[in-house]
Amino acid sequence: MSESKFSKNLIKLRCETCKMVNYYSRKNKKLVERKLAYKKFCKHCRKHTAHKEAKR
Ligand SMILES: [Zn+2]
Repeated sequence: MSESKFSKNLIKLRCETCKMVNYYSRKNKKLVERKLAYKKFCKHCRKHTAHKEAKR
């Protein structure tokens, strides 16, 4: 099914401070080989924190 193909590249972006998953993203392994890390607003910490990808 096409759904499994979609979820294959779906990753979680987890706040490094409180470990809560706040965002979801899709990664193209052909383009991105290193671990993703974004600075995003965490509603739990109420500030911008580092968000790193987590396994499903
Ligand atoms: Zn947080």
